Amino acid sequence: MSASELPAILGGTPLRTEALPEWPGNWPEVADALNACLSDGSWGKYHGPNCEALTEQLNNFHNVTETILCASGTAAVELALRGVRVEAGDEVILAAYDFKANFQNVLAIGATPVLVDIDPASWQMDVSQLEAAISKKTKAIIVSHLHGGRVPMQPVMESADRHGVSVVEDACQATGAMFDGRRAGTAGHVGVLSFGGSKLLTSGRGGAVMTDHPEIAQRIRLFTQRGNEAYPLSEMQAAVLKPQLERLEERNIVRWDSVRRLSNQLTQLTSAQGDQILRPLVDACPVGDEDRPAFFKVGLQFDPTNSTGLSRDKFSQAMRAETVALDPGFRSLNRIHSKRRFRTVGELPVANHCDEHVLVLHHPILLEGDVATRQICASVERICRHAAEVSATPVC
Ligand SMILES: *Cc1c(COP(=O)(O)O)cnc(C)c1O
Repeated sequence: MSASELPAILGGTPLRTEALPEWPGNWPEVADALNACLSDGSWGKYHGPNCEALTEQLNNFHNVTETILCASGTAAVELALRGVRVEAGDEVILAAYDFKANFQNVLAIGATPVLVDIDPASWQMDVSQLEAAISKKTKAIIVSHLHGGRVPMQPVMESADRHGVSVVEDACQATGAMFDGRRAGTAGHVGVLSFGGSKLLTSGRGGAVMTDHPEIAQRIRLFTQRGNEAYPLSEMQAAVLKPQLERLEERNIVRWDSVRRLSNQLTQLTSAQGDQILRPLVDACPVGDEDRPAFFKVGLQFDPTNSTGLSRDKFSQAMRAETVALDPGFRSLNRIHSKRRFRTVGELPVANHCDEHVLVLHHPILLEGDVATRQICASVERICRHAAEVSATPVC
């Protein structure tokens, strides 16, 4: 058998000869922005034109009145919770399958996380469980749009308004997405973005809080300003974000095209027994004229009953050897924290299922076009063809 037919994990030549795609890459517009920082001296200043210009640009892009730049998406979630007056002793509802720092932020304030399950079709917060989760102590709901999916915001806002609860909308994985004709992060009382090193807009670190409610913005400013800024984004960070925001829409459209192609190609990829080994989450998310998803990660279900006998972890390791960044998704929060720290609604079976079966594809490969999506499918195909030998390789 020729080396080219063997999966890379068994010594074959990776189908993709490039290393894992780099992010953020070397963009000329970012180089220009950094050079401008050097020549105008703003790189070394507390205050300058860049943060102000970025704030304005983000306000316009999202059609909101207030954007507050800050040090990270994690800090932004904390600020958002403080902005809606979450205090020690309160309860904050979030999905049991969510970013770990969201849970930690609730604890950091001294509040108690209340975990609800996720919807089995979309893997997003199951909004039908909100009513059962809300108590007299509930102050806020954190809603995260994850892995290219979306939480339906209208029922969330209806429940929240009925009970006088605030909604923090985490758009860190959906930056620039359009849901029901508005940008992700602008349907809740306060929205959150991350500019972390892997995110769709990046300055290595950084984040932002957005709101149309002046009193929320005011509370956040009071909290962050201690004679000096406690959670700052720098002038240099703002400078590199501005040109990326200009191109976000265009790049999100390219990524979405890739996801649709990948999804079609994966549908045709079944094992000898006819099971579809990887099922994209996006197939379960309706899209219309007013909707445009964004993909920080592409969520995929690894078929738990697949006839290849491959485990999810072995499969993702074999894909990485092909230079495809396909990794296990989040751990479900109820499984990685002491039960004393949170309250739950029900047994959380779907979050537990996702804890074991979700894979996520990192976004940079989606900018590479048709060749890359075909390489992903060809990699899946040859790994499955050699499933028994791949399963027998030691886990590293
Ligand atoms: C990345 C991310 C954040 C914030 O991350 P930072 O690295 O702190 O900027 C928050 N929520 C979700 C869902 C994320 O993916």
